[in-house]
Amino acid sequence: MTARRIDGQRIAAELRAGIAAETAELTAANGIVPGLAAVLVGDNPASAVYVRNKAKACPTAGMNSSVHRLPADTTQGRLLEVVAALNADPSVSGILVQLPLPGQIDESAIIRAIDPAKDVDCFHPENLGLLAAGQPRFLPCTPYGVVRMLERECIETRGKNVVIVGRSNIVGKPLALMMMQKRTASNPAGGDATVTVAHSGTKDLSGLLRTADIIVAAVGIAGFVKPDMVAPGAVVVDVGINRVGDKLVGDVDAGVWEVASAMTPVPGGVGPMTITMLLHNTLAAARTMAPNPRIS
Ligand code: NAP
Repeated sequence: MTARRIDGQRIAAELRAGIAAETAELTAANGIVPGLAAVLVGDNPASAVYVRNKAKACPTAGMNSSVHRLPADTTQGRLLEVVAALNADPSVSGILVQLPLPGQIDESAIIRAIDPAKDVDCFHPENLGLLAAGQPRFLPCTPYGVVRMLERECIETRGKNVVIVGRSNIVGKPLALMMMQKRTASNPAGGDATVTVAHSGTKDLSGLLRTADIIVAAVGIAGFVKPDMVAPGAVVVDVGINRVGDKLVGDVDAGVWEVASAMTPVPGGVGPMTITMLLHNTLAAARTMAPNPRIS
């Protein structure tokens, strides 16, 4: 068996066309142009690429973007000032502070300083709490991208055993919440799965993974999920982005293509979906500034 390739690039392009149309509608009706402000501290090359790609995507959706570059020795106080200025700026609908931050800065203090209504990454504890309570303001971009991708590919999550490897606040934990949530009219995508979250303390990970209908790998170790860990016909979503030499590879070994029924490639899988959901959230944040706000 060779797995069907889930083309994140194509799905992302289709969704972005819809976001661009909705943005044009908002701008025409209210004169509001959604604006995304990205803050980049230091010179981590991977972070610079992520920020550049996010900023580049904005104009294609009719949105403004700005990048605020700060030196690696920026103090926490200075970064808090920058965040406060962006919170107060009405032309800024969404703020993202690219992680990781240099060691002298307390990341959680910075995340807590972002206005939750502009927290389009959905990292703020208030927004994560709303998600956990089943009343999300925003959905975190990478997990949301995974759920939308499965939905577009007609891969049902209801009643399925989903094993997520990785419990980060950015990927594994919120994705588990989204996959397990009860499906309702206001929460139509994904959900109703039986979810297990694995991590470095999990016993017999291989055995656990073989029980999964859907595996999501968010570990950060190249080729971590091997073919003998996957049940024939399982769906495999590879969130990992690892640089090996001059290549980007995922967390899933290439041999898994011969075992799974459908799988996401790296690159061209979850990555483009993450940026697309960031645009979606920026539009949603901008809508709250309209006279009759509507968040979809
Ligand atoms: P992270 O914060 O480093 O979390 C990694 C998780 O993997 C942790 O929960 C860790 O367990 C678990 N883990 C590590 N070794 C393990 C092992 N041997 N067995 C089982 N679990 C193990 O990473 P992240 O931020 O979630 O990112 C994960 C990957 O996704 C990275 O490659 C990252 O670059 C990529 N990523 C991609 C996108 C995208 O848009 N495609 C977005 C975000 C992240 P413990 O908690 O026990 O340490």
